[in-house]
Amino acid sequence: MKRMKLSLRYLIVFVALLSFILTLISSLLSGYDTNKQTLLTSTLETNRMYAEKLAQTTESFLQTTLQTLSVSAAEIALIMDDEAALLREADRLKMQTRTFNSVAITNAAGKVLATSPQSLDLRGKILESPSSKEALEERRPLISKPYTGITGRLIIFISYPIFDQEHNYLGLVGGTLYLKEMNILNEILGEHFYKDGSYVYVVDRDGRIIYHQDQSRVNDIVDGNPVVRKLMNGQRGAERVINTKNKDMLAGYSYIPTADWGVVSQRETAVTLAPAKAMLKKMIVTSFPFLFVSLIFIIWLSNKIAQPLHKLAYYTENSTEKNQEKHIAKISAWYYEVIQLKKALVHSLAFLHNRINYSNHQSKTDPLTKLTNRRGMDEHMKKWLEEETPFSLILLDIDHFKRVNDTYGHAEGDHVLQFLAMQMAGSVEPHHICCRYGGEEFVILLPDTMQQNAVKVAERLRSKMEGTVSPCGDIVTISAGVASYPDHASDLEALVAKADSSLYEAKKRGRNQIVAFELNDIIQA
Ligand code: GH3
Ligand code: MG
Ligand code: MG
Repeated sequence: MKRMKLSLRYLIVFVALLSFILTLISSLLSGYDTNKQTLLTSTLETNRMYAEKLAQTTESFLQTTLQTLSVSAAEIALIMDDEAALLREADRLKMQTRTFNSVAITNAAGKVLATSPQSLDLRGKILESPSSKEALEERRPLISKPYTGITGRLIIFISYPIFDQEHNYLGLVGGTLYLKEMNILNEILGEHFYKDGSYVYVVDRDGRIIYHQDQSRVNDIVDGNPVVRKLMNGQRGAERVINTKNKDMLAGYSYIPTADWGVVSQRETAVTLAPAKAMLKKMIVTSFPFLFVSLIFIIWLSNKIAQPLHKLAYYTENSTEKNQEKHIAKISAWYYEVIQLKKALVHSLAFLHNRINYSNHQSKTDPLTKLTNRRGMDEHMKKWLEEETPFSLILLDIDHFKRVNDTYGHAEGDHVLQFLAMQMAGSVEPHHICCRYGGEEFVILLPDTMQQNAVKVAERLRSKMEGTVSPCGDIVTISAGVASYPDHASDLEALVAKADSSLYEAKKRGRNQIVAFELNDIIQA
């Protein structure tokens, strides 16, 4: 199984995307968290202030109410025997103040002397409830606990004692609030707040609900609620709380000293945090196109970064590639690492190729004369044969070379060979190739050259040798045979053989001369 190679491009995309997504998530979450904290804090503060305001309003309402009753009690003390006047006073209290659901005036024994409305039909009856008894016994202003009155309603009774000038206790005047019906508390505490999920309730000192906009909850005991317990201790504040209905609430609470009540203004936490959640969702949705564009940009950029390295890696792996160097030179290196790698690669390749070229050259060069050796010569001719390039071949041999060796020594003989090589190089044109065929035999290859022109070149060399003193101090001459491809032979061996036969002919005819194959003309020196 072939193992997948991890490529730089995918690594870059992966790392970039990972960091991008992590950043996005953390910024979304921290945005959400800040938003959430702000909402929690501001809602708690709003509820605290609202509870405070309602507590103050209720407090001053109760003070005013007690004040009203005290003024009324002084009036009533003067008309205690006038039944009609008492009825009028009861009606006035109920109608004028609009505070009470009902009003009652009793004598010191608790017998009802007058009520408003009169339809209550309580006249002559004795008030028996613990609250009214407490008021009658204690003879002081009193705000009762909720209780079920004679009429069967759940009520709160607010009463004031009546004394005459001599400070004799005459009875009491009081008003009720019908807790389960519309009463003054509804007006004071209102319901306008309810629409944004907030609402208000009031508890008494026992943790019993005396006001709630859901009237079915009035009279419930909720002293399990931590906020209610704090109110029962007379504390004020705001906090997040799980209420007795197991709901997470943000509650502000404040204390009403006159009645020993507490007011709570609260809002459900989930409702409060809904905008933050909606905003988070919106942010996620709006960031998607941005994410998409970024993804495309990241892929483009990572390609741009990875591609030069990828190509360098590819062309290095495929080092047998023909135009390796050209390909590498074309790679666009636009940042430090690639620039350096590319430079290093080009240098080392150049070095390698130089080495290869050098040893190639060495293997085709004769070390003594620096001319092309037999192998190089064969390569050239084979190539021309393949390409069907016409060419001429001069095969030349030094005359009586053995004598040079014998007379001056082998080393001197070598100098003569080098001297001849120099003369050859000086006699030919740049595209002609001078070769050492072996021993003291040499070849000149002349591509795209007709035989008669090759003969002219050979003749030029011969006459040069004849006219120049060689390093050994004697004049050394040469003989040569000239043959052409494809005029005289269609393969190498035959062509060399033809030139060789002409060379032999030249030697036979007395040396120091050139013989063109088949021409049989002797070009005399
Ligand atoms: P001819 O005119 O018939 O060619 O006479 P020649 O003396 O040149 O005869 P031949 O071709 O038989 O002799 C070649 C001599 O060249 C034999 C050999 O000692 C000598 N020789 C061959 N290679 C070298 C070489 O590399 N260096 C030296 N110094 N002599 C060489
Ligand atoms: Mg020879
Ligand atoms: Mg010879």
